[in-house]
Amino acid sequence: MRIAVYDSTLRDGAQAEGISYSLEDKLLIARRLDALGVDYIEGGWPNPTNPKDLAFFQEAGKLGLRATVTAFGSTRRATNSPEKDETLATLIKAGTESIALFGKSWTLHATEILRTTLAGNLELIEDSVAHLVAHGREVIYDAEHFFDGYKADADYALQTLLAAERGGARVLVLCDTNGGTLTSEMGRIIQKVKEHIGIPFGIHAHNDSGVGVANSLLAVEMGAVQVQGTFNGYGERCGNANLCAILPNLELKMGYETIGREKLQGLKGFSRFLSEVANVYHDHRQPFIGESAFAHKGGAHVDGVMKVAHSFEHIEPEAVGNERRFLVSDQSGGATIVNKLRRFLPDIEKKNPLVGQILERVKQLEHQGYQFEAAEGSFELMARRVQGTYEDLFTLINFRTINRKTGNEAEDAEAIVKIDVDGAEFHTVASGDGPVNALDQALRKGLEQKFPSLMQVHLEDYKVRVLTSGDGTAAKVRVLIESSDGRDVWGTVGVSENVIEASWIALADSLHYKLLKDALEAAGEGQTATG
Ligand SMILES: [Zn+2]
Repeated sequence: MRIAVYDSTLRDGAQAEGISYSLEDKLLIARRLDALGVDYIEGGWPNPTNPKDLAFFQEAGKLGLRATVTAFGSTRRATNSPEKDETLATLIKAGTESIALFGKSWTLHATEILRTTLAGNLELIEDSVAHLVAHGREVIYDAEHFFDGYKADADYALQTLLAAERGGARVLVLCDTNGGTLTSEMGRIIQKVKEHIGIPFGIHAHNDSGVGVANSLLAVEMGAVQVQGTFNGYGERCGNANLCAILPNLELKMGYETIGREKLQGLKGFSRFLSEVANVYHDHRQPFIGESAFAHKGGAHVDGVMKVAHSFEHIEPEAVGNERRFLVSDQSGGATIVNKLRRFLPDIEKKNPLVGQILERVKQLEHQGYQFEAAEGSFELMARRVQGTYEDLFTLINFRTINRKTGNEAEDAEAIVKIDVDGAEFHTVASGDGPVNALDQALRKGLEQKFPSLMQVHLEDYKVRVLTSGDGTAAKVRVLIESSDGRDVWGTVGVSENVIEASWIALADSLHYKLLKDALEAAGEGQTATG
């Protein structure tokens, strides 16, 4: 049986402490979610006071995604008619096929938060849903605080579901908004709900009691047709139910189909990518896709796994794109590297000696603080450098940056760059908003005369992460740059103790990568991973 995967990474997940996505981040994540194979991508709440979310829906509409992009929002205000309600009007304006509409299930919320009567709340649920359905939308009804509402007044909570059903909702999603419901209790309540509703139901669980995944799995076992959650479990407070655990459990252990087994192998890569874009540490102990999920250290465990892998492993790590690691004698990585290399060297086999050489280089670089999950441009350049089929078209002779800050005036910066292009020396000066911007301007000024196609390249995003240092050594920084030439998007990375130098490495790689892409295209010799 197939279960619809409803992703809320860009809405509920964006409400997590310490996470904030730019519009470009959201679009990039949406493309990757689509490639991963989720059914619904909840893009945000397009309300009149949040233009960023409305812009997302306009831009996402142009991406040609296979997944259903979904807008999220509330039922109408108690004092408005549906036709006059601005929240509903903005939801319709977002132009999505599908809308997740949330309403109140709990008497406390109806009377104290919405300040309406219990009957008034039922009415506004029904007519808000009906209004959106009349505008041709699929309505997914999110019953907010459903389980708490049920515990306070079971009959009323059920009536709210029936109101949404009468309004024409496609699915009734039972939300454990506070995340406080325990699994056995949830089971008893779902059993009762099933006796009353006439349309399918879904589940939206939070992890405040540490059972968000367990609750989601139980709901599916009891008949939920749609499971909502976020990747890496990002979300408010303790987070949402983690799709990184829900999907492999459903798919590999419980006999349900979600994104399919083939795409499931992209799960770890996606999880890492997301943590890079969110700019938060990737939790090594996450079930299934954490770096430590299949890391064996104890001697007896290592010995056991070498003899029979499943003696100490609950699934095959490759099924979710992870890998087995032996912490004492490191033998990992070959298969992962081969998968990455195949994106631009389609015929490479694991036994090719190049794989071992590249793996060795990746390990050295990772030890220095590099991470390639969101920097496939730098990965490909590195691999081709090791392979010996690529040479940089420009090299740095030296650069200098000067920063000036006077009183309250804005900072002003200047960069002087000297580079070598094919034996000729280019010497340029440029100013910018900060030293990195000035460096970028000066480098391009020098190169654009010789390589006009670099004029198409612009920086989409720039992120700096401070890496924790060992005692007595300076902290390193990792700079991640995302570039685009209007057709393709690629990431590059640089690491140094100095943020300007780390930025230079990532900037130079970004332009090297564009030149590589152009050269391969011109020669008709296959293409890069992103081209
Ligand atoms: Zn939620």
